[in-house]
Amino acid sequence: MRVLVTGGAGFIGSHLVDRLVEEGYEVVVVDNLSSGRWENVNPRAEFIRRDLKEPGWGVGLRADAVFHFAANPEVRVSTTEPRVHFEENVVATFNVLEWARVSGVRMVVFASSSTVYGDARVMPTPEDYPLEPVSVYGTAKAAGEVMCATYARLYGVRCLALRYANVVGPRLRHGALYDFLMKLRKKPEELEVLGDGTQKKSYLHVEEAVEATLRAWRKFEEVGEPYLALNVGNFDVASVLDIARAVAEAMGLSPQIKLRPATPDGRGWPGDVKYMLLSIKKIVELTGWRPRLNSLETVRRAAAELVSELG
Ligand code: NAD
Repeated sequence: MRVLVTGGAGFIGSHLVDRLVEEGYEVVVVDNLSSGRWENVNPRAEFIRRDLKEPGWGVGLRADAVFHFAANPEVRVSTTEPRVHFEENVVATFNVLEWARVSGVRMVVFASSSTVYGDARVMPTPEDYPLEPVSVYGTAKAAGEVMCATYARLYGVRCLALRYANVVGPRLRHGALYDFLMKLRKKPEELEVLGDGTQKKSYLHVEEAVEATLRAWRKFEEVGEPYLALNVGNFDVASVLDIARAVAEAMGLSPQIKLRPATPDGRGWPGDVKYMLLSIKKIVELTGWRPRLNSLETVRRAAAELVSELG
């Protein structure tokens, strides 16, 4: 089976490619290397450098299934540069779906996000909660999901949308954990934390996220539904201060922590969600998958891995 992974040079995508290659799939990676890195790409996968914003990006390409993981994942950028997110997340997703329709690909796995729920009032948040994103990034993911659902019903391009919580681990190059590490390298005695420190979110290790992805994909192949959205997260949360402490500990440092809220209600930046906990009942029941590490263990493991990766 020939599988195409967009964003396969990035963080989650490259770990997914490693697993698919290991399991014997023929894997093609399409990535424009905007945030991904060539050295992340498994040497046993075929690598094609193309930009999904170009309508003709898929000319001459063939695959049986596509994992669409390419995106601009920086939520903060989406607030200051909404057009960039519209193009990199909405236009690119439309172009992937169009390529799938025209070239007869019948299965798309779409990397969506917990941010589609915005400031949800039900915790843990189930999949049938309304999509009320508070960031342009979340809006772009919600738009991607709706386009996927329509392509599934109208054109038979079946789609599985996976709404990931915060995923961390080796090769991560964005988000709080990575930012803290970079800041502490520059200034080991002090750490600026965006927000009032009370933000709490669910964390999942990338190995566990990939395992959940493959199990959900296989199950989805068996069921008849054209479209399915599933949360992929953890049973609990870790706070932004837990992350700050975990990174400092992994680096052997004791910095003074300086809190910097960006909004009157203490968010790290406009569009930041302060509390996120997804209900993972559905994926657990459907696939039997469940996370082995809790959020704090996940963050500590990822901090140690990133410190040893980046020195
Ligand atoms: P990442 O930045 O490491 O990977 C994204 C990849 O997409 C990069 O390799 C980048 O070069 C590529 N890319 C971006 N725009 C492209 C374009 N126009 N054409 C071709 N390639 C392009 O990010 P990640 O953390 O690995 O995220 C992977 C997916 O999972 C994204 O869709 C992201 O929105 C989603 N997601 C990530 C998290 C998380 O915590 N990391 C959580 C929820 C959802």
